Amino acid sequence: MNKQVKRYIAGAQLLMFSSLSIATDFVCDENIDTTTQNTKESQILWQQTLTYLRGVKEILTKKQGCEAGPLAITETNNGSANIARDCTTGYRDVQKVIKHVDAVLANPNAAKACFDSQKNYDALALYTANEELKVSWKVAGWLDRPTLTEFYDKKSGDLKKAGLTLANEFWSIVTQSHMPDYLETNITANALPELWAAVGWLPFYADAEKAHNDRFRGGYTYAEVMGPWGLLRIKSINGESVGAELGMTIQLSDTFYPYHYHHPQEFYLPLTTPSCGTENRFFAAHSDSALFEHSSEDSSFIIDANQDTDLPAWFVPKSPNGNYFTYFERNTVHAFDAAPSCDETASGIVSIWGRTTARDNVQTTQICEVIEQQGGERKAEPHSRYRCKPTQWDY
Ligand code: ZN
Repeated sequence: MNKQVKRYIAGAQLLMFSSLSIATDFVCDENIDTTTQNTKESQILWQQTLTYLRGVKEILTKKQGCEAGPLAITETNNGSANIARDCTTGYRDVQKVIKHVDAVLANPNAAKACFDSQKNYDALALYTANEELKVSWKVAGWLDRPTLTEFYDKKSGDLKKAGLTLANEFWSIVTQSHMPDYLETNITANALPELWAAVGWLPFYADAEKAHNDRFRGGYTYAEVMGPWGLLRIKSINGESVGAELGMTIQLSDTFYPYHYHHPQEFYLPLTTPSCGTENRFFAAHSDSALFEHSSEDSSFIIDANQDTDLPAWFVPKSPNGNYFTYFERNTVHAFDAAPSCDETASGIVSIWGRTTARDNVQTTQICEVIEQQGGERKAEPHSRYRCKPTQWDY
């Protein structure tokens, strides 16, 4: 090694050291309850939160098809029957998430001021899946959140049936997951059981009639680890707004998450392979895609996929060792089709999930609405006819 190279390396090390030693200024959201922080249980939850964030950082930065980070699918069909892929570390919103997660990992003691177990949280109702988990895992037992079992028990029909399967078989479903082979940090429920059992779960579509698919509405839940409604709620770091919203999602087998879109960009890393034969599949296309029938009057469009000719070309399989990482730009229309189980074992698609601009504009997930068929009942399926009305954002 010549002297010039050595000097460069020493300089880079010095630069790294000095950037770490600069004070990082964390501003927390206003509603942080720190009164439980010193309990043993809260410490366990915090440690597993940090491991989860280390895992997310690895997902976003580990070289996998790009110079840095993963080569993501951005559209499963770009209108010319090709899959569109891109390197996500090139996107500014993703770069910010990486920078902010790095800041937390480099300064855990300062960031901890913004950590709240959400034991006394009243902004949203958060759940633990079932009572058994509170016996098996001490953090979930200590938090003693209401259960999804009780929640779904008050519902009816297919929604109740799917919801109770999700709630009661939750642990069996989440522990069927594994990381893709190229990643080292295991952040599945097998490695971080206290976090997955105790983080606050939301039955997000249970009361959303617009989703028009009762089994899906009962069979979907998500949780937020870091973000405006999660365990770690940091408003800004060194004056920069923190848009990271990071957590996990579960979609029960044999359900269709209808076509939807939203302002914030989003990524998914699937952790489960289907239990048998049929693949889990997903769809993503930009809102101006040639796949849709666009209105000449406004930004609305119709989705009307032919079951036999379009769907096989529109949807692609997702699994930890195949199409492992997806990134949706603003207003990208996406949908998830979870394969049926082939035996009595409950299963589903378990994913690491994140949004990158959770503090900008409108966050609401907009579902494309099934257009009623003449004389028929509305049911959201991949080949149903939908109308979507995305807002055109200036940036
Ligand atoms: Zn989404």
